[in-house]
Amino acid sequence: ELYNKVLELKGNIRVFCRCRPLNKEEIAAGTSMAIDFEYAKDGELIVRSNGAPRKTFKFDAVFGPQATQTDIFQDTAAFATSVLDGYNVCIFAYGQTGTGKTFTMEGTVEARGVNFRTLEELFHRITERQKLFRYDVSVSVLEVYNEQIRDLLVSGAQPGAASKRLEIRQVGEGINHVPGLVEAHVNNMTEVWEVLQTGSNARAVGSTNANEHSSRSHCIHCVMVKGENLLNGECTKSKLWLVDLAGSERVAKTEVQGERLKETQNINRSLSALGDVISALATKSPHIPFRNSKLTHLLQDSLGGDSKTLMFLQISPNENDLGETLCSLNFASRVR
Ligand code: ADP
Ligand code: MG
Repeated sequence: ELYNKVLELKGNIRVFCRCRPLNKEEIAAGTSMAIDFEYAKDGELIVRSNGAPRKTFKFDAVFGPQATQTDIFQDTAAFATSVLDGYNVCIFAYGQTGTGKTFTMEGTVEARGVNFRTLEELFHRITERQKLFRYDVSVSVLEVYNEQIRDLLVSGAQPGAASKRLEIRQVGEGINHVPGLVEAHVNNMTEVWEVLQTGSNARAVGSTNANEHSSRSHCIHCVMVKGENLLNGECTKSKLWLVDLAGSERVAKTEVQGERLKETQNINRSLSALGDVISALATKSPHIPFRNSKLTHLLQDSLGGDSKTLMFLQISPNENDLGETLCSLNFASRVR
């Protein structure tokens, strides 16, 4: 049975699906691919199991295992221009641990990701516009772990440190602020790179297993842009959020206890809150449940209205991951 599940994308929400390549171990083990790119048309993705095609999903764009960081960014660059035009933008990476969320957002030194490239594009456009506009850019890097906010630009910041607990304060109609959060002014890409590195290094500090910790927390970059039109003095203020979400994999309740269970519940809560908020916005529901998690509360002023949202839905091609892959694809279909 082959049926079409068409993602009707309304308004300002875009979903790009990215599938990582099989890794060396999977190739060595002769793993089969559950994703068929050969017969898929533009923006389509065909999931098969036991070799037979099963379901087709539709996205704004699909990036297969061969897609490079440059390919991905070609369709993402326009979001940087939107920020300079005064729009708030959120870019998320969603998916099971190991599907390439961090690869897409952070990337590596040789293959830099969306975070670096978006900021690079931002500065490139700022230079282009310098005769007409003046811009002021600052960056915050934070982590939401177990519903607690940690500033990753504070030196010596420890996971779960009680000394500096950051809270969200409402400073206007639907506008929130985190008092005390470091906002690093950046004037060029050298300074941006330093800030990104500081944040990335701080993520691992104090945790016994850095990989595990990073897959259990949301890593968030907030780029704040103030613009001034030099001709008429008009000012704009906008935010760009770059979010590497916690792993979406389901964990059997019987497998976890104590702290780990609380952690799992918090991850599930914040990811489903994110899905609820985005689908409520898409269906123009009168009540948008922003307050159900720290993540959605934090992003409240940048989700909805005339804000733009891009979700990278990261998936694995491995047939053994099919269950999680279908969960992720179904999550994306809620986001319409
Ligand atoms: P996640 O953050 O979702 O847990 P990672 O970004 O850490 O996943 O990716 C897991 C591994 O797969 C890493 O070694 C990463 O470099 C590799 N990887 C992920 N996506 C790609 C890709 N598109 N091309 C090449 N390697 C990838
Ligand atoms: Mg990761």
